[in-house]
Amino acid sequence: MKLIKVEHAYKIYKNGTTAVADISVNIDKGEFVFVIGPTGCGKSTFMKMLYREEKPTDGKIIVGGIDVSKLRNSKVYKLRRKIGVVFQDFKLLPKLTVYENVAFALETLGLPNSQIRPKVLKAVEAVGLKEKLRNLPSQLSGGEQQRVAIARAIVNEPKLLICDEPTGNLDPDTSKEIMSIIDNINKESGTTIIMATHDKELVNKMKKRVIVIEDGVIASDDMKGRYKVHESVKNTK
Ligand code: ADP
Repeated sequence: MKLIKVEHAYKIYKNGTTAVADISVNIDKGEFVFVIGPTGCGKSTFMKMLYREEKPTDGKIIVGGIDVSKLRNSKVYKLRRKIGVVFQDFKLLPKLTVYENVAFALETLGLPNSQIRPKVLKAVEAVGLKEKLRNLPSQLSGGEQQRVAIARAIVNEPKLLICDEPTGNLDPDTSKEIMSIIDNINKESGTTIIMATHDKELVNKMKKRVIVIEDGVIASDDMKGRYKVHESVKNTK
């Protein structure tokens, strides 16, 4: 069953930069997909359009039955409930503890504490951080901070987890741990994963679907792909 359907999507930013040009792709429920390509090729823009951080300039994007291209601003929250997002720089709230950072998303949904607590504990346990519930982000290593960000992203049990270079700030061993946590979330909850990365070793080890973007277009899409990017391709737009 398809979770994501992208048809002839374009993104031309206000300054005239064409970041994505005529991308069409389908992603099934439960799939694990790497998105790779040189810096500036359009990976982030492609993913931002899926969670409506950016609107496509043209084309159609359906995520979990919602037509993202037509979605009104006032209805974006309906889409966001289906999607968790993890970034390279964690984006944790520095004055909140691990527990509070993860609970925050549910509080904004208006859930009562009695429902929030078990969900937070489950998410924190899934990333192996139960011992650090009361720590502040500054009292955690980079890898631990990224685990908190993952717990926050999955706490509402989204259908889709988008990861934009989640291991970009981490050393190789920590990157492997983070990769294994994300892989487990995919296997155990059936959450669809879309992950942009530059980590050649991880991509080659995982043998998952690999979509290569170059200059805003899909250059290749292999079900058991390897990391092959022409890093010398310059974005000339
Ligand atoms: P990647 O994630 O692969 O590094 P991006 O999607 O961030 O690529 O960027 C694709 C292209 O769009 C680049 O040329 C970048 O400079 C440009 N771009 C990204 N965001 C904006 C923006 N908000 N306004 C104008 N241009 C942008």
